[in-house]
Amino acid sequence: MKLSVIYKELIAEMALSCVKNGITFILSNTKEVKLQDESKEFKSSGFFAEEEKILSVGTKKPIKEWFPTLLHEYNHMIQWLEEAFVEDKHLSAYELFWDWLDNKCELDKDKLRNVINIVRDIEKDCEYRTWTMLKDNPELKISPDGYIKKANSYLYSFALMRRKRQWLKKPPYRIKRAVEIMPAKFMKDYNRVPKEFQELILKECFR
Ligand SMILES: [Zn+2]
Repeated sequence: MKLSVIYKELIAEMALSCVKNGITFILSNTKEVKLQDESKEFKSSGFFAEEEKILSVGTKKPIKEWFPTLLHEYNHMIQWLEEAFVEDKHLSAYELFWDWLDNKCELDKDKLRNVINIVRDIEKDCEYRTWTMLKDNPELKISPDGYIKKANSYLYSFALMRRKRQWLKKPPYRIKRAVEIMPAKFMKDYNRVPKEFQELILKECFR
């Protein structure tokens, strides 16, 4: 893998931070990486698992695709180290959301809205940290504005996951037109989903 200096430096910094904090750091030569949960196998482009203490990203794709994923997952690790979202209600929000998506539990309307708001707030905080790193490191040549648009496509999709009661089958940032029409700034309200975006994602990203 040929990498420019800034990429090497940041990867070294992240790897060192993992070592210092007892986290296994894996850059896997595969497209996706697997997290073995007790009940199921979960495949994704990358993950940070606090219980298993693993930060893992699949790198068998262009670096400008996998590197932002690595930054995003690394920032979930930073959130965890900073204990930014440690209250019980935050920890259980992800589990409740997953269980609800898997039809393992039922949530009333208010509870569901609350759970999704919490998960989305944590993701928004993570996206904000990632965007800041891109802005602070222009030598990476990854557009921060372009990143916000992709981040917004993810954050807006939570309202649609609620509607479909399904996790995304395809990441919304892979739909070019959907990303194009996203705002290039972080929003306060991600429940009012732009109409064209909604139509595209419902058609392309769910089963
Ligand atoms: Zn995330």
